Amino acid sequence: MADLRYDPINDLWVAVAEVRTERPNEYRPSAEVVPLERCPFCRGHETETPDPIAESTWDAATNVLQPVSDGNWAVRVIPNRFPAFDPHLGPVEPIAALDSDKPGIIVHPFRHARSLHSRQELVIESPRHVESYSQLNETERLASFFTYRQRLQHLRQNRQLKYVLLFKNCRPNAGASLAHIHSQLFGLDFVPSTVAARQRRLGRARATPSQWLLKQIADFELTQETRFVTQGQRWSMFCPYASRFGFQTWIVPRQNWGPLWEQDDAAIVELSRLVQTWTQAVEETIDRPAYNILFHNPLLRPTSLPGHCYIELFVRIGTMAGFEWGSNCWINTHSPESAANRLREKFKECDW
Ligand SMILES: [Zn+2]
Repeated sequence: MADLRYDPINDLWVAVAEVRTERPNEYRPSAEVVPLERCPFCRGHETETPDPIAESTWDAATNVLQPVSDGNWAVRVIPNRFPAFDPHLGPVEPIAALDSDKPGIIVHPFRHARSLHSRQELVIESPRHVESYSQLNETERLASFFTYRQRLQHLRQNRQLKYVLLFKNCRPNAGASLAHIHSQLFGLDFVPSTVAARQRRLGRARATPSQWLLKQIADFELTQETRFVTQGQRWSMFCPYASRFGFQTWIVPRQNWGPLWEQDDAAIVELSRLVQTWTQAVEETIDRPAYNILFHNPLLRPTSLPGHCYIELFVRIGTMAGFEWGSNCWINTHSPESAANRLREKFKECDW
């Protein structure tokens, strides 16, 4: 069972989850990851994973996500076999700390808790042994993004969850332990401190939409040539001014700033095209780049801080080194201006 341990010096939680050492290639350096002889995510190997939560395909005739039970799936959702947060009930150990803001009262240095209700799911975006969004066909791409929305809609119904993060790790240097394309959903019954702080900054502290921080940034970038990439009907894309990583890109809504699970069909379709085209652009520039994609959404609870939906994409060029670990100050050798310039060229080919 995973322990959640609080680090009061750095204001962060650590999940101590030894079960994850059983993952394939756990003890190999990422450059030496060995492909499995038999991939459990490929079609025909379904019995090698836990029972599916959902199997679906995209019905082009009706433009809807269609559940299937004949094995002819385009997208498959399964529980994570190696969860960082064990969802099974166990003895509850109450938080041991005396947490207090009052001066003079010592905060217990070893605060810990159990995460009892967290949920972790994998979304396998193709039955074929491919590794990147760039390799998905239209059926797989649409089925994947509508599955994301469907699973987020489902998980938010769980009253014990407070936050859900949908993310993708592509290739070993981005954290993928299996080559076969997949994304992950972490539904948590606690709010990580970084998420809480970001949500406070994004939240509706100011009354009118025109004063929301993220909207102000987006509005400014869209008036500039330098970091703007493209604009569709529902989303805008630009490289943030203080990019920490190569090709760091934000996709932000144009109108509906609500969470991904409330975005309409047209927004989901357009987002899937933007994300896939971004992966094609970086793969035309860098040979098999490792990349991460984070689908940021508001907290599920409390709902008094709605926050905003936006999608963050970046390439793992270089590594987080001692200076970054020690200072949380970043050195980025690839400017957002040159990244945006390259991405713009690719998106010019697209008809939005
Ligand atoms: Zn495979």
